[in-house]
Amino acid sequence: MLFYRLTFGKLFPTFGILFPSFFVQPKQVTASAKPVLCRPWFAVSNKKTALMGYICTMIETQPKNIRHITLHEIEEYFVAAGDKKFRAKQVYEWLWKKHAQSFEDMTNLSKDLRQKLATEFTLPALTISTTQVSEDGTIKSRFKTFDNHAVEGVLIPTEERKTACVSSQIGCSLSCKFCATGYMERKRNLSYDEIYDEVALINQQSEKNYGKKLTNIVFMGMGEPLLNYNNVLKAVERISAEDGLGMSPRRITVSTAGVSKMIRKLGDDQVRFKLALSLHAANDKKRNEIMPINETNNIKELTNALNYFYKQTKNEITLEYILFKNFNDSQKDADELIKVYRQVPADLINIIEYNPIDDAKFAKPDDDVVMRFMQHLETHKVNARLRRSRGKDIDAACGQLANKG
Ligand code: SF4
Repeated sequence: MLFYRLTFGKLFPTFGILFPSFFVQPKQVTASAKPVLCRPWFAVSNKKTALMGYICTMIETQPKNIRHITLHEIEEYFVAAGDKKFRAKQVYEWLWKKHAQSFEDMTNLSKDLRQKLATEFTLPALTISTTQVSEDGTIKSRFKTFDNHAVEGVLIPTEERKTACVSSQIGCSLSCKFCATGYMERKRNLSYDEIYDEVALINQQSEKNYGKKLTNIVFMGMGEPLLNYNNVLKAVERISAEDGLGMSPRRITVSTAGVSKMIRKLGDDQVRFKLALSLHAANDKKRNEIMPINETNNIKELTNALNYFYKQTKNEITLEYILFKNFNDSQKDADELIKVYRQVPADLINIIEYNPIDDAKFAKPDDDVVMRFMQHLETHKVNARLRRSRGKDIDAACGQLANKG
């Protein structure tokens, strides 16, 4: 690992310039990184040059992230090493169920075996670098990745629920105007084991501070989950697997700013989790102003995609709508929202209190305006719920995550 980083980061800087796409993903060596790096070279030259041969050999012999290989592959490893096959199950259980953060934690394995695993594999787990506790009990954590990036996740406790709000990317490329993450540069996608770590660590916080496991997970933290599609789906698979955290996918909601093509793909893939669309403005002109993604994924396309998703999965859909003062809080805005609501099989509209951030010019509407808006929706028999902010005092509320504080 160290050699790999030194090699590509320092000794061969021009390699990164010539082949920039190799460096978009985290520079941990995984089962899939090897062919991605070596294949295009062979396709072009059809023979190993000394340099490329050297580099590929080095990569092939670098330790792999053990959570990027299957149980079956771990079994094969133990059998090939002349060890018992059942060791693989023990290791797998430590990785996914007991959430070991290092090979050293795997105490039912011999010391020698733990050392051997540590030289032949990597286990780049997230760690918590800081936590902040709000006066309302919300806990915001900043996690550190193996390559020194920071990403945030939030535990939102209520009487009935313990909800984890998790991030899917480090930063975000969609630049929504009201969101603190949108003003950050997107560094990279989180891998599925990193997303899994966020949930497992927040689950531990929930058990420790509130005596209860997580009941719900929402992908509403940093990043656009549908632009990290495979990792998000794989993380959900591990979170809901019996040999993972064993949570029902029905308790997981993935929230998107609106990537219509990927909403359709969710339908084709017959996912079992719930979907939320961050609408926030119910006509294209206003939505373009606050969410640039609307220019290529307009409301018509999104409503069509949501209908397709529902047809394929019958899963619950929610619309999210943040109220901004004098922007989308009038009766006319409410009427436009009702119109969109009638065009999609949405169960609910969450009306969200805006949480001001330094970079944005928006403000929160006065309470009487919010009440009038809610009343209007109720009069038109819309199933709408007002979501009050949690964790505002620690910048943990909706739209405030930006590695601050
Ligand atoms: S609201 Fe979501 S999609 Fe938009 S910038 Fe923020 S994190 Fe990205």
